[in-house]
Amino acid sequence: MTFVVIENCIKCKYTDCVEVCPVDCFHEGPNFLAIDPEECIDCTLCEPECPVEAILSEDDLPEDQADFLALNAELAAQWPVITEIKKAPEDADEWADKPNKRKLLER
Ligand code: SF4
Ligand code: SF4
Repeated sequence: MTFVVIENCIKCKYTDCVEVCPVDCFHEGPNFLAIDPEECIDCTLCEPECPVEAILSEDDLPEDQADFLALNAELAAQWPVITEIKKAPEDADEWADKPNKRKLLER
């Protein structure tokens, strides 16, 4: 089983999650993070760290977020690992909890 970053991370990218991961499985893109499902050990530590509840266990994914399971795997394979917290984008708070952000995902 793996944990999955879902739509609400797009354009928020607070990165609070990355420091707690014991196996460094977060990968950073321009405005989203992805978890490598091959590396995730299902430890649950990252889930409560995310201020916008954008990390879920694959078993808890709602239907409208199910495509993020494959998307995390695809993007984690392309993006570099991130292990340290960075400053969030200036407008991160404005984007938190906005719906329909998929089209804004940059690769
Ligand atoms: S803490 Fe949440 S919003 Fe921030 S990068 Fe991690 S998953 Fe994305
Ligand atoms: S569940 Fe654990 S191993 Fe998986 S991404 Fe979160 S912190 Fe990393």
